Order: sequence, then structure tokens, then C-alpha cells
Amino acid sequence: MIELDQVSKHYGDSIAVNSLSLTIQAGDFCVFIGTSGCGKSTTLRMINRLIEPSHGHIRIDGEDIAGLRPELLRRRIGYAIQSIGLFPHWTVARNIAVVPQLLGWEPQRIRQRVHQLLELLHLDPAQFADKLPAQLSGGQAQRVGVARALAADPNILLMDEPFGALDPITRESLQAEMLRIQAELHKTIVFVTHDIDEALKLGNRIVVMDQGRIIQNASPQQLVQHPANDFVANLIGQQDRGLKAAACTTVAELLQPARMPLPSDQPRLHGSDSLKLAVSQMLWHKVDCLPVCDDSGQVIGELSMQRILEQQP
Ligand code: ADP
Ligand code: MG
Repeated sequence: MIELDQVSKHYGDSIAVNSLSLTIQAGDFCVFIGTSGCGKSTTLRMINRLIEPSHGHIRIDGEDIAGLRPELLRRRIGYAIQSIGLFPHWTVARNIAVVPQLLGWEPQRIRQRVHQLLELLHLDPAQFADKLPAQLSGGQAQRVGVARALAADPNILLMDEPFGALDPITRESLQAEMLRIQAELHKTIVFVTHDIDEALKLGNRIVVMDQGRIIQNASPQQLVQHPANDFVANLIGQQDRGLKAAACTTVAELLQPARMPLPSDQPRLHGSDSLKLAVSQMLWHKVDCLPVCDDSGQVIGELSMQRILEQQP
């Protein structure tokens, strides 16, 4: 869990972040969205102490990070940014291995981890481990950046507009990749974007910022259905209708009777899950139908991809 408690950042007379309070739960995919200069990156970089707050406190799992050594803190937190920052003269494998090496892992363990991460990011280890960054496409380099951020298996991942420079198709595939990784690894992710499509696609919690403050902190459903003010309404006004519906319709609304028998080894949806989550689960598990259960774990029905597609406006 990450808690920001009345955190401010001043630069001379100007205020980049203004007494911001926010709790991000473990396992959340929290997206900061807002116009350029509203304080998103500054807020993110205060969480790993690349920037020190002027006022306020930040706690991780209850511990005030001001009392931790920044370099040790940063080894526990993955960080991925748009410009990637791969070392140009190091191979892909060596770039990914940076933090495990700092942590003093055995070479054999590092090799295995690099291999595992390349596979996780769908980069064939035999083909990519020994390449140099200049030999990669933008999308491949960004995948390496994500792999590097995950290398030491941090609980927290900070991502600052990581896909901002990619073309739309590569960008979509990396967004899908992030949903898959999150479904598999359950990290706490704080993700900065200025793109509302990206925010609604990825986040289960969306924090809209303006002028260093939080305007709205809500689930995608709440944000779309009850924008806090005109600023938020305008932000989501341009939003694609299909995606909007997927973000604010729940699985329970489209529930179908369960066929018998249900395979026991399948993941389950909850009635309160959004269709967006249901679709990403189906794509990830490569199935076109999933059982739906209630809070007690009792199966109450199922949901098929066909049924979701019929609902698209
Ligand atoms: P965002 O990531 O939302 O685009 P930033 O967090 O980078 O915005 O910046 C927030 C505000 O703080 C901006 O007005 C920016 O100009 C200002 N700012 C950021 N870094 C510095 C700095 N090192 N010195 C002075 N002002 C800064
Ligand atoms: Mg920024």
C-alpha cells in the first residue's frame, strides 16, 4: 500500500504538487491522468525519492520512506519511463540484469531471471538477449524497459508515460501486455498518462489531476458515469463509446445461466468486475467463456465473449 499524506512540491514560488493526499492499495493499477504540467511525473518521482517533497509524508506499507536510503528504496520499486534509458553499449540481457546485479544475485540466478522476463515480455531469449538497444524497434526496446523494471521482482512498479512515443498498434499490444502481466503478477502499479483511452483501458483506479491537485479519484465506472466536474467530463467526452461501455458495464449485468458442468480449473469472474476486465481475462486465458461467482465463491453463471460483443454499441 502506498499512502501520500498532504504531499507538496514547491519550486521557488511555483507549486508543482499541492497538498496531495492519496492511498493506493496493494494490487491496484492506479493511473494518473491530466494535462501536461499538472504534476503527474513529480508525484510519481516522489514515490521513489527521485524528487524529495517540500511538505508531507509518503508511506509504503506503513513505513515513512523519508527514513529509508533512496538507493535501497529504488531497488524495491521498478521504474519505467518513455525514454527507456537503456545503456546503449550493453546487451539487452545486461540491461535487464542491472538491479539483480546491484543486489548481488548469483550469475546463474540472474541468467534465469533474464530468460524468464524476456519470455514474459514475448521476446525470444535466443534472439534478443545479446542484441544492443540500437538493434531493437521502439516497441521491443520498451518491452526491455518493462522487463528491466520487473527484474528484481519489486512489489511496486512506477511507469511514466512508458508507451507515449509508440505508434498506436505497438502501443495497444504493450497495453494488452501490461494487463496480462498485472493479471499474472498482481503488482501495485502507478502509471502516468495523458491519454484517457489508455487510462480507462488499464486502470482499476483513475486519479485525475489538475494544477498539482487531485480533481477526482475513482474507478473507471465512476469516472465515466459521474465525472466530478466539467474538467473531467471534457476529458472523457471524446472517449470511444465501446470502451466507455466496457468500462462501466459490470459482468453481473450480462450474466448468463451456467452450463453444466463448469471446468474447475478455470479462473473466475466476479459479478462486480467490469467487462473490460472480463475481456482481458478471456484474452489472456485464451477462452471465450468464463464462470462468474459471487463474493462467497459460489458460481452464479457465466459470461461469453459472444454476449459481450452483442452488447457493443
Ligand atoms: P506532468 O508530468 O504532469 O506533465 P510535472 O510533474 O513534470 O508535470 O511538472 C509539474 C510542474 O512543475 C510543471 O509546471 C513544471 O514546469 C514544474 N517543474 C517540474 N520540474 C521542475 C523543476 N526541476 N524546476 C522547476 N519547475 C519544475
Ligand atoms: Mg510528466
